[in-house]
Amino acid sequence: SKPIVAIVGRPNVGKSTLFNALAGDKISIVKDTPGVTRDRIYAECTWLDHHFTLIDTGGIEPDSKDVILSQMREQAQIAIDTADVIIFLVDVRQGLVDADAKVADMLRRSKKPVLLAVNKVDSFQKFMADTYEFYNLGIGDPVPVSAASMLGLGDMLDELVKYF
Ligand code: GDP
Ligand code: MG
Repeated sequence: SKPIVAIVGRPNVGKSTLFNALAGDKISIVKDTPGVTRDRIYAECTWLDHHFTLIDTGGIEPDSKDVILSQMREQAQIAIDTADVIIFLVDVRQGLVDADAKVADMLRRSKKPVLLAVNKVDSFQKFMADTYEFYNLGIGDPVPVSAASMLGLGDMLDELVKYF
């Protein structure tokens, strides 16, 4: 059956922008299920001859540091429980922060395949060097993308479908 791919990451890294870029307009909103505190958004996607279901796990954007961390952990746990492959999205403009490392630990322990995508690399020339610090997360090679400018998405999807 079709693999499920979940996008996980801190608020504001660009999860929904990436989701929309990959999903086009084939988006359906699914109501809350008990125990899940926010809507999850699903889309059916195709890359080459690979079909998959994409989930945007983000929701309400909290502003306290503690809430961000607990929500990220919850979100990562949902992704670990639900997804076959996880896209872990980080933000090259903000750099590697502690919450990224904590979620990376959870993802690594889950043994699920994780693709590490570094967003907001709007210019490869300008920002490529800044992507290397994400090797320190210990979950593989960072793949540079710009969800807003739709850069690097083909290469990212090529890497993603290798996990199917
Ligand atoms: P989410 O909270 O992770 O879902 O992030 P959003 O998709 O809502 O994006 C947060 C902010 O980052 C918005 O202002 C987006 O326009 C911006 N953003 C998303 N992707 C990019 C990108 O590739 N480059 C830049 N410069 N900004 C981006
Ligand atoms: Mg979002």
